[in-house]
Amino acid sequence: MPPLTVGRTLRRAMGLRCPVCGGRGLFSRWFSMVENCPTCGFRFHRVEGHWIGALGLNTIVSFAALLLAVVIGIVVTMPDPPAGALIAATVTVAAVTPVVFFPWSRTLWSATDLLMRPLEPDDDVDVRYWPAARPRKRR
Ligand SMILES: [Zn+2]
Repeated sequence: MPPLTVGRTLRRAMGLRCPVCGGRGLFSRWFSMVENCPTCGFRFHRVEGHWIGALGLNTIVSFAALLLAVVIGIVVTMPDPPAGALIAATVTVAAVTPVVFFPWSRTLWSATDLLMRPLEPDDDVDVRYWPAARPRKRR
């Protein structure tokens, strides 16, 4: 398997694929992620409290979307922004964004965690899917 570069790992996560092997089928339903990758066996829940990172990522993205909705709403409706419509729009963004982003928060967090803590034998990855070591840069 090719080495796990930052770009490759995050691209796989953006496509809702396994960050280790690129395999699909990680979600049986929108909110139900499998425990292990069906292709390589990678165990996504690597340590106790692992998904706190995904929750944090989802919170950051949701607040960013909320801020964007407020700023765009005010800028577009200047000089007389309608308070009721802006509140309705921002409440909708605040309610919908975390639900829609949920699967990406899981795969992106798994990829980020994998980049910070490389694979270990305890991660249950089939040896055929172990990535090659990253080439070292020459000095
Ligand atoms: Zn996999």
